[in-house]
Amino acid sequence: MNFRFLALVALLCLVPLSGCGKTQSFSTAGVERSSSSRPDAPSSTDETIDPAEVDWGSFSSTSLRNPNDGSLVGGVPLPLSARGLRFNPNRDLAARYGTVEVVRALVNAGRIVDEELGGLPVTINDLSYERGGPMPHHGSHQNGRDVDVFFYQLGPDGKPLESVGAFFDQSGLGVDFRQLADPSDDVPLRLDVPRTWRFVQALIEDEAANLQSIYLAEHLRLLLLEHARKRGAPEPTVARFGEMTCQPEYPHDDHFHFRFYCSADDIEAGCRDSDPIYAWRKRALAEIGVESLPLLPKRERARTKTVGHEEARRAAGPLDPEVERWLERRKQWRARPHPGRRYCP
Ligand SMILES: [Zn+2]
Repeated sequence: MNFRFLALVALLCLVPLSGCGKTQSFSTAGVERSSSSRPDAPSSTDETIDPAEVDWGSFSSTSLRNPNDGSLVGGVPLPLSARGLRFNPNRDLAARYGTVEVVRALVNAGRIVDEELGGLPVTINDLSYERGGPMPHHGSHQNGRDVDVFFYQLGPDGKPLESVGAFFDQSGLGVDFRQLADPSDDVPLRLDVPRTWRFVQALIEDEAANLQSIYLAEHLRLLLLEHARKRGAPEPTVARFGEMTCQPEYPHDDHFHFRFYCSADDIEAGCRDSDPIYAWRKRALAEIGVESLPLLPKRERARTKTVGHEEARRAAGPLDPEVERWLERRKQWRARPHPGRRYCP
């Protein structure tokens, strides 16, 4: 992975909440196994995990404090490979820990897409460190309840290909720029809307997962909404998707950021939810006599370094004119008003 690519990664990932942690090249050879001694820990580097064979009940995790200033106890490693899912091999392996609810939900959603629609595995990027805490280039991801996920993608021949960090426009078209200064190696991409929607639908409908928010560029939210309505997806799911998505200050047009609520047990242990607390969440907690707790003040030690847009742009050096054109379009997506929609808090 060359420096320019790293710089583009930074350009794509300017928002503290975005899916852009440190990007590392590594081989899985010699990678340490999970620290868990449990034989069924979903962390094998050799085999593809069958989610049905994982005893999720044997895990116990606790998410503490805030997503932007927190820690994780008993963090569960996302499998490097499971049916319909992979952890991005270009990310830091130490950044693949989540709560048991989150990891189980991701593995389950990947399996559902694979069973129903086939194709290639969904690519999962950073979650949290095993014990949580600050993660470079992320404003949150500190207690196992945040995860970045690439969209499912199609190549020029219309066939699924392994997802990359490319951004997509309002028609669902994108480009894998590869070498940023070289226009000749660009690969046109298309957003795989049906598989991407099915993955999101599975997460929303997984009641035990407690999905809270989806950080996503408004124009991609509209594409997914249109698809879901056309194919007659369950109305409560579509309505919840419409409500729980928000566009961060800088558009998430190259990946999702998913945020999950605290589990009820974790609330009692000190887990804190960010806003918004939706009516369905309040009802579900009221039924079991638990009340959500507000965020604690962010401590100085929880702060992380993020790269500014101009800094990243300078570091990227000369760019293929097509890359420049796309970066200009992103600025418009950022500035474009989307009436009635809120920016992410
Ligand atoms: Zn993120």
